[in-house]
Amino acid sequence: MCRTVYRPTAPGRGPGGSVPYGLPMRATASVLHVDLDAFFAAVEQRDKPSLRGRPVVVGGTGRRGVVSTASYEARHYGVRSAMPAWQARAQLPGGAAFLSGRFDAYRRSSRAALGVLRELSSVVEQVSIDEAYADLAPDWPVDGWSRADAEALAERLRAGVRGATGGLTASVGVGSSKMMAKMASEASKPDGLRVIWPGEEAAFLADLPMRALPGVGPATTEKLRTFGAVTVADLRRMALPDLVSILGEASGHGVHDLARGIDRREVTTHREAKSVSAEETFHQDLTDVREVTAELGLLARRVAARLEKAGLFGRTVGVKLRRHDFSTHLRSTTLAHGTDRAELITEQAVRLALGIGVGDGVRLLGVSVSGFVEHSQELMPLDLGPGVTSGSQESHTADVSSETDAAVGWDDEESHAARLGRVAWPTGADVVHAEHGAGWVWGSGLGRVTVRFEGPTTGPGPIRTFEADDPALRRSDPPAWAP
Ligand SMILES: [Mg+2]
Repeated sequence: MCRTVYRPTAPGRGPGGSVPYGLPMRATASVLHVDLDAFFAAVEQRDKPSLRGRPVVVGGTGRRGVVSTASYEARHYGVRSAMPAWQARAQLPGGAAFLSGRFDAYRRSSRAALGVLRELSSVVEQVSIDEAYADLAPDWPVDGWSRADAEALAERLRAGVRGATGGLTASVGVGSSKMMAKMASEASKPDGLRVIWPGEEAAFLADLPMRALPGVGPATTEKLRTFGAVTVADLRRMALPDLVSILGEASGHGVHDLARGIDRREVTTHREAKSVSAEETFHQDLTDVREVTAELGLLARRVAARLEKAGLFGRTVGVKLRRHDFSTHLRSTTLAHGTDRAELITEQAVRLALGIGVGDGVRLLGVSVSGFVEHSQELMPLDLGPGVTSGSQESHTADVSSETDAAVGWDDEESHAARLGRVAWPTGADVVHAEHGAGWVWGSGLGRVTVRFEGPTTGPGPIRTFEADDPALRRSDPPAWAP
């Protein structure tokens, strides 16, 4: 093993310059991490009784889609987040449902769950739609408390979330740092609770593979593997100077700390950048849809370049369009995954802008990306192999009882319908029929739409098929989960 002289960085600053080395680790299990289990799929199963206990896949309904969330029944067949849709379809038996996602419904449930957490702690850091940290120290007597106290509080949170969300389950971890709390909740999944008491960190981590440590990616793992390290315990046996010589100053220190469960990041209620955007005012109004499309492509590339530079992935794509008459229109859409890809941002921006309409000319265009997440899940190889077909607009789709091969994605379906000036019926969308009441789109195609009439407070309901332009049928808000 090569050794180099280790030179400490400036005193008081850690790697990245933001985390002081001097701060003591917490001596109490006072950081809590909560993660809703298979969140999108769980919301779908709550609102669609006929899908409970069945494999459900959210996302991945389009031609090039990837799985956003799989229910535990689908995970049983090896389906995972970020898996290409065609692969998920190939692995699942008949009876699996592929749904395009209802972000309004997910946001409502997320807010309800977060509300329960905010009743327990005044310092809550939301990480994503289904995940948050809370600092328990400001509101609870954490210095004198026992493991049983921490467990009781976590159980109270879990019960509160179940009650407030109509039965969604949350896994909760409590530990001496964000890292340990997150690893504890991860280890307790699904529907679990785990407290890692101060002093237990090393034993908990020892047998885990290195890559289980947050922030230790494939490249780092590969480098360390050549020095014989496989588990976290192996990593702990490596001296700091060796780690620094192998990984560099910042990563060497970082990995040395992580292997010991040391994470000095505080729970913070503030997040940094909220959005990245670019806009352009034109000397002459754009009147041609092709010009508008080309300009949106340029703006999207500028936004994508900034996202990449900042290491950000955003889920919400927004468009600003000012018309000839100075009326300004804003539209946005939320994707299943974070992205920093120019093509995807362009595609969404064009769809949104065409939805607004060019009118008598466009004076200004803007593109923005917000809703940042830690990872991109859509950066997957999307190459559809020979013989693999995906949903087509012309097929009658999403026969959940037997056929799973032809669901049409939200993106394709919505934009296709918009071009034809029709209402889109994405699979899984909430609808209401003047005579039959509330239900959801079970499938559509060939000018028809099939609806299952059921909701979170009913039993499994009947299926009926209508003409796609039936005036009695319309899209609706997500159903209320409490009677
Ligand atoms: Mg989750």
